[in-house]
Amino acid sequence: MSYYPTAARAAMLLVIGAALTASVASAQIVAERQSPINITTRRAIEAHGHGTKLSIVIDPAATFSVKNTYQPQYNFNGGAPNGSYDALLTPEFATLKASVISSNSYLTVNGETYHLLQFHFHTPSEHTVDGKRSAMEVHFVWTRDSATGTPLGLCNSNPDGLLVTGARIKVGEANRELNKIFSRPLPVDATDTAKNITSVALNIGKILPSLDNSWRYEGSLTAPASSAGLGGCTPSPVAGIDDQATTDAYPENVSWVVLSDIVTLSQTQVSAFRALFPDSNTRPTQDLNGRTVKHVRD
Ligand SMILES: [Zn+2]
Repeated sequence: MSYYPTAARAAMLLVIGAALTASVASAQIVAERQSPINITTRRAIEAHGHGTKLSIVIDPAATFSVKNTYQPQYNFNGGAPNGSYDALLTPEFATLKASVISSNSYLTVNGETYHLLQFHFHTPSEHTVDGKRSAMEVHFVWTRDSATGTPLGLCNSNPDGLLVTGARIKVGEANRELNKIFSRPLPVDATDTAKNITSVALNIGKILPSLDNSWRYEGSLTAPASSAGLGGCTPSPVAGIDDQATTDAYPENVSWVVLSDIVTLSQTQVSAFRALFPDSNTRPTQDLNGRTVKHVRD
């Protein structure tokens, strides 16, 4: 039973219908090239030659700081107490991150040069290949030299300011280089500062597998980003972390290179990371939305 006359109800329903249409339309706008994805190998387009060759120069004596980005003192719905969203808010969006202190590692592709910014881990893997998920995934984040703004490359009218080389990780032989991180007591969150690694020398050449065989596609971050430096990002507007999380749309500024070769870590190493994120820090795979995945073999 309704208290509204039929004509008034019809008008109300029209208004409600218009509102629903508008919200559906905006939802479609914000999800054009999200990551991660499932890679269907038989649908990947074979590509090689000009514009695809990835060259890498590794600084074997680069130094990194390592910390857990989970900030339990921030509330997802309440926002940051200091009014800033420069934080990752839940373990789901956090990771153990090795940030460059000093490094001259860089890669070049299609005339652009990208310098290493940081690398971090997810469990289980974010990308799936033919539906299969691995124990973990490591993401090496590179910033395009020609990108501008602060932080460098995070959109700022450069929609592809970042390139991420991602490698799936399986349980197997231990990675000795990564034992410089995983054999230590690891910080359980950002407040556990005594366990942060203030400086560790790492040769990423002993971590990153061959770049010669990869799947490439245009995508996004896989966790919300700090609002700082998001000018020029799509989807637009990309507001604070909580807005990105609510709309499930993250900045679309990443050229993805998912490596075919696999990294192995020992069960002990995988367990050390999983203990930090027992409920996973992996985003579900996203719709391709008509995107092409290239398979590149150099
Ligand atoms: Zn990642």
